[in-house]
Amino acid sequence: MRIVSKYYDSNIFILEKENEVLIVDSAVEVKEIEKLVKGKKVVGVLLTHGHFDHALFADEYAKTFKTKVYASEFAKEYLSENRKNYSTDIEGLFLEIKDFKNFVFLSGEGEIEIGNFHVEFKQLGGHSKSDMCFKIDDEVYVGDVLIGRDMGRTDLYGGDKEEMKKSLSWLIDEDYQIMHSGHGEDNNKKTQDKVASIWIKFLSRK
Ligand SMILES: [Zn+2]
Repeated sequence: MRIVSKYYDSNIFILEKENEVLIVDSAVEVKEIEKLVKGKKVVGVLLTHGHFDHALFADEYAKTFKTKVYASEFAKEYLSENRKNYSTDIEGLFLEIKDFKNFVFLSGEGEIEIGNFHVEFKQLGGHSKSDMCFKIDDEVYVGDVLIGRDMGRTDLYGGDKEEMKKSLSWLIDEDYQIMHSGHGEDNNKKTQDKVASIWIKFLSRK
């Protein structure tokens, strides 16, 4: 299930398996999520990256659902400084997490079991240092690395065009069926391979 946040229309995904729920990103108010997961067990929260329009409320989810938040080791820096997660761009918002006891930080690539979910993860980059791709049941969650037909912004803090090229190449090499981006609709691999290769060409122009 895809839910759209009011903050820059970012996507939050609720995955279900045998009464267990895994949530990808956290910028929708806890009350909304509570309604949607009623009677089910939330086993974890995954963060695609540390920008506020994806990671807002992550710690609230952890506390409310008594679960852990899984994110890139580089997300810590973003989550702890509002000018790096850009929550400062929206009046009245201030995301600065000081206590990370509810967080599990991941590095490099690997696989983890979270409840009934088998999760593969891979550290990416380009949009932010904290970009983490998650693959579950042949579907990838890429945050803002690739947003439908658009490449994610590389001009924000920690963004990097060379890293973006590497991330896009990795996605082309990776086997998956469906790509879920941080904003907009889902897309299939065939479409996204074309999009990624166009952006790689664009980034390689001198
Ligand atoms: Zn972002």
